[in-house]
Amino acid sequence: MSKTIFQHIIDREIPAKIVYEDDQCIAFEDIHPAAPTHLIVIPKKAIPTVNDVEPADEPAIGHLLGAIRTIAKQLGLDGGYRVVINCGPDAGQEVMHVHLHLLAGRKFTWPPG
Ligand code: AMP
Repeated sequence: MSKTIFQHIIDREIPAKIVYEDDQCIAFEDIHPAAPTHLIVIPKKAIPTVNDVEPADEPAIGHLLGAIRTIAKQLGLDGGYRVVINCGPDAGQEVMHVHLHLLAGRKFTWPPG
């Protein structure tokens, strides 16, 4: 299977503005930001969608929320933020590597579009 764009970022084969990295995950700026702060947070393991997460992956997926908490603190996102996971075509998932969007810096409406 060919690498996704996010795998190329993990492997440092294409540039990205990386804001956080640890042994299990990496976070970088979205190339088309939908808010003043828009980060993509991904596990280093290539899992295509939420539907492909196996029980053994669940600690790594939970770890992403811990990373988001750390990043939010580092960036001073005291007004709050939104975390989004798109899964599959109806949700508009474009990159087949599980990722969390971290959005902040403006007011968000509900329900989302
Ligand atoms: P999704 O629709 O949930 O699959 O979101 C994919 C996100 O990845 C979109 O918000 C894109 O703007 C973002 N994206 C795609 N390519 C890159 C890239 N090379 N660097 C940073 N973000 C990217």
